[in-house]
Amino acid sequence: MEFLAENEIIDRINELRKQKNAIIITHNYQLGEVQDIADFTGDSLELSIKAADTKADVIVFCGVKFMAETAFILSPEKTVLLPVMESGCPMADMANAEDLIKMKNDHPDALVVTYVNSSAEVKALTDVCVTSANALKIVSALPSDREIIFVPDKNLGGYIQKKTGRKMILWPGFCPTHMRITPKIILQKKQEYPDAKVMIHPESRLDVIDLADEVLSTGGMCRFAKQTDARKIIVATEIGLIYRLKKENPDKMFIPVTEQAVCPNMKMHRIENVLESLEKMRYRISVPEKIRIPAEKSIRKMLEMS
Ligand code: SF4
Repeated sequence: MEFLAENEIIDRINELRKQKNAIIITHNYQLGEVQDIADFTGDSLELSIKAADTKADVIVFCGVKFMAETAFILSPEKTVLLPVMESGCPMADMANAEDLIKMKNDHPDALVVTYVNSSAEVKALTDVCVTSANALKIVSALPSDREIIFVPDKNLGGYIQKKTGRKMILWPGFCPTHMRITPKIILQKKQEYPDAKVMIHPESRLDVIDLADEVLSTGGMCRFAKQTDARKIIVATEIGLIYRLKKENPDKMFIPVTEQAVCPNMKMHRIENVLESLEKMRYRISVPEKIRIPAEKSIRKMLEMS
């Protein structure tokens, strides 16, 4: 790719976005430069709703692969592009269809509840998907006499199990980025900023969540930050969210719990990749119909119950 200055890259992206009737949607953990060119930035639930509703012909998805797959599952008539093909999610990779089939066979009466951070194949074997924003509401609404298999995040599942008292079989997956947040780090920050509120993402360990003032998805954190009277907020999630929080609330102070809470996969997209993606119409994400149809059912069920 020829060398272009940042403003030239942005101009070209804007031209192509118009020409191809494309929408650029980005996750809250993306780099600031990518969030700045987005038509829409949000958490997994907000992005799923946006992908289902948009009138664009092309969706450029700056997130990780399962998110682009979810967009295609909901809008198969559209072209869904993931600018960097290698941007996967290690937690999603911790669950596969073969092992889930075995688990379902061992618990034939259980309902399968799957966090959207999962592959299309796993979603296709699922009764209802959830995000961190709606998992509590959805699990609480499921028939109380049914056991629940919760895939793949043992931390989110453990938190929901504790809140609802439901009997759950937890898949042993986790987010490596959120696992870097420990109780010791939170306690240190609380000591340093005693008047700050603490927001914690439920992909964190249970002993970390216990130290929260608020347990929230990234979208929930953005809303809470706007509404609260607190001037200082300790943020326990991937540090990409800090960029959006500061941009939307310039008068408040946001304290990342640790600079180590970085998801390398979420940081792969740069504006150059977005431009190349639109120029070359790559990398197209699709899902075979025999997987897409049952996977769509489990996502639509989530949207209905949200
Ligand atoms: S932050 Fe964690 S759950 Fe999100 S994409 Fe990265 S590894 Fe996956």
